[in-house]
Amino acid sequence: MDLKIAGKRALVCASSKGLGRGCAEALAEAGCTLVMNARSAGPLEAAAQEIAETHGVEVTAVPADIVDPEGRAAVLEAAGEVDILVTNAGGPPAGYWTDWDRGDFIDALDQSMLAPIALMQALVPGMMARGWGRVVNITSRSVKTPLLPLGLSNAARSGLTGFVAGTSRQVAGSGVTINNLLPGVHDTDRIDELDDVVAAREGIGRDAAREQRIAGIPAGRYGDPGEFGRMCAFLCSAHAGYIVGQNILLDGGETFSTI
Ligand code: NAP
Repeated sequence: MDLKIAGKRALVCASSKGLGRGCAEALAEAGCTLVMNARSAGPLEAAAQEIAETHGVEVTAVPADIVDPEGRAAVLEAAGEVDILVTNAGGPPAGYWTDWDRGDFIDALDQSMLAPIALMQALVPGMMARGWGRVVNITSRSVKTPLLPLGLSNAARSGLTGFVAGTSRQVAGSGVTINNLLPGVHDTDRIDELDDVVAAREGIGRDAAREQRIAGIPAGRYGDPGEFGRMCAFLCSAHAGYIVGQNILLDGGETFSTI
């Protein structure tokens, strides 16, 4: 299918690896010009070069912390006018609900709620003025069902979800859609780290922790960043203009709910 976004300019945050990289790859495959970002310059520049060579598109790499206001300003300056925004950053640490103090919650809010909101506030007005735009926020299954060790994620990402629910309806009339993609368990370094926490707690190996987790996923496997990225690219496509304010779960059926 031609997604009809060749030549659009896309900013994909936190995209040197994992789900962000999956989104960058799929948008490049669709012919978008990319601005990619991550904190570590080396892996980011390597990923940008690989994607540019594979897909023959222009890719600008901006090493910066997207959660930090100065880092974000540098990314926005380099990105200029963009048609497509994919927000992403690292996830909050796992723990127990009594572990966290005010500072931990503020950090989680900055990372998982306020940074994506600041990016939308900076870029959506331009999209509205030009009459077309797409925003996809990478959030988590934790907004549909609480993940017990991830209380910081459950809390902070719910705040972003509420903001998107209202804002998406305020901007849709200008040709801009905002939606959220909710990963379940996809095969990335972040998931390896979380599996290691379980493995250490239960005195088992990472592979055993992974098998335990897979037993609870009806699809019988972890998701793949490539398939996640292609769903992102579809949401950014010309064909997705009537999808507004939705929370789309990609979790292999792990979350048991009827609708
Ligand atoms: P990952 O494989 O660890 O990749 C994270 C990427 O984000 C890297 O490119 C990293 O590069 C970059 N990054 C992290 N913090 C950043 C920051 N402050 N500024 C700029 N770049 C930053 O993680 P992932 O699995 O793709 O997860 C992405 C997001 O989805 C996370 O918020 C995670 O909690 C959420 N999520 C993932 C899953 C899953 O199944 N994988 C499930 C639910 C939710 P640098 O380290 O160089 O900055």
